[in-house]
Amino acid sequence: MFRAECKAGTELGKAACEILAKGALVGDDLVNGIVANRIARPDCANGFLLDGYPRTVPQAIYFSAVLRERDLPVPVVIHLDVPDEALVSRLTARRQCPDCGHIYNALLQPPQITGLCDRDGAALITREDDREEVIRRRLRAYDELTGPILKWYGPSVVRTVDGTRSADDVARAVARVAMEATSLVGVG
Ligand SMILES: [Zn+2]
Repeated sequence: MFRAECKAGTELGKAACEILAKGALVGDDLVNGIVANRIARPDCANGFLLDGYPRTVPQAIYFSAVLRERDLPVPVVIHLDVPDEALVSRLTARRQCPDCGHIYNALLQPPQITGLCDRDGAALITREDDREEVIRRRLRAYDELTGPILKWYGPSVVRTVDGTRSADDVARAVARVAMEATSLVGVG
């Protein structure tokens, strides 16, 4: 969404371009503005799924006000639940090709020859981001910012999906929750 907004050349877009160029952290105001604009577009008229937003309680408060203003129903929040230890072992298994950028996972999507890129034979590396201590720091930040969102929305809004199952199973569970949600508000 940031890249699209940046290309669109709007006022918000200019701010988004700057953030993308600097790799800076994105403030709540900018994220909120971009989401509010995006969900006003016609392809969102019958519903939409936001991945990774709202990420903080202030964002959730803003988002609720936008939904109320536009007469939209209370959202369904899908919590993909994966224990920290499972996330750490998945993420520390990530390997990247330094030449073509392709990402492998030593556990889930290994290359044909251990440690080498299928496309060009380059020796795969572990990115700085995927080191265990960096991952644990990110998980702590997640707990501090995003954990309270689940409490803020409460059990009537949050549906928990077991994220340790296969990608297909998780996709099916998310689709089921989404269908339930759309029938609850009588659209789709
Ligand atoms: Zn490669």
